[in-house]
Amino acid sequence: MSKFFSQKFNELIPYTPGEQPQDKRYIKLNTNESPYAPSDEVSKAVADSATKLMLYSDPECKELRKEAANVFGIKENQIVMVNGSDEVLNFAFMAFSDKDRPLAFADITYGFYPVFAKLNNIPYEEIKLKEDFSIDVNDYIGINKTIVIANPNAPTGMTISLADIERIVKSNPNNVVIVDEAYVDFGGESAIKLIDKYDNLFVTGTFSKSRSMAGARLGFGIANSKLIDDINTIRYSTNPYNVNSLTIAAGVQALKTNNYYMEKCKTIIETRAWTTEELKKLGFIVLDSCANFVFAKSNKISGKDLYLKLKERGILIRHFEKERIKDFNRITIGKKEDMVTFIKTVKEILESEK
Ligand SMILES: *Cc1c(COP(=O)(O)O)cnc(C)c1O
Repeated sequence: MSKFFSQKFNELIPYTPGEQPQDKRYIKLNTNESPYAPSDEVSKAVADSATKLMLYSDPECKELRKEAANVFGIKENQIVMVNGSDEVLNFAFMAFSDKDRPLAFADITYGFYPVFAKLNNIPYEEIKLKEDFSIDVNDYIGINKTIVIANPNAPTGMTISLADIERIVKSNPNNVVIVDEAYVDFGGESAIKLIDKYDNLFVTGTFSKSRSMAGARLGFGIANSKLIDDINTIRYSTNPYNVNSLTIAAGVQALKTNNYYMEKCKTIIETRAWTTEELKKLGFIVLDSCANFVFAKSNKISGKDLYLKLKERGILIRHFEKERIKDFNRITIGKKEDMVTFIKTVKEILESEK
């Protein structure tokens, strides 16, 4: 730290992204990327729009919002486009929480929430998940805090029903409830259909997972137009050109070819079921996942050892040091052939442990 670094960031511990090593080719099952390439239309649109890079991108993302409104069944003034949904989470924390409206989220959830809270100097409460990692909805009823729920949750993959989300939103009318739906296309139930009914519901989504665009950085927030206006106040005070023109072009085509992506999601769901069964046969505890990953624990090898031994053999999965989950690993669902290799390699590692 230099002597010039602001005191206010003294205690800031930045988020650690999943590793992206370049030393050799790995089977990457560690950052929940899609194993499938974008649709051909997306690749073509990016190439075409490259000829217009001398111009600024459209700060309103008009075309993109029009397509999104169509796909998500909302109005164009009910969505804001952002540089990856991480950005809109940060904006939403800035916009809707402060010392008097502190944040509340689960103890086991997306690791960026506490980082954004600290960055913005917002106090937060971590609400413990139950022993089986499910949410106790009662912990969130009428708590007068700005609530953040990843649904499906990461890294557990577990989901709560729309009825439960509605109970939480309804019982906290003076606070915004942020529902992070990064994984909703893999089996969750979207809260988007409630935004006309509740003025305090803010839903976030991303093109990084189900729409094969992690490298393009495109996310969005969906809510009633007043909450969207608030986010735009923050966005236009930070970076109005937050979404670049190549990404806008890619996003428009991704939405126009939505069926392609939804088919891939179906395949991933099937591969997830297969992987879950195989892991259970090997004695793993596997949580019920509605996401493009599974969270699993072996009774024969520690989470860290399994992670390291797989890495030696060219397969990356995600390990977390956090006490409650340190014997679990988060395993992204890749293509079937990659999961076959993964299971075979896990078998070999367990054999060699005997
Ligand atoms: C991946 C992820 C995001 C953010 O994704 P972006 O790439 O920034 O759009 C947000 N929330 C959760 C729970 C995630 O896993």
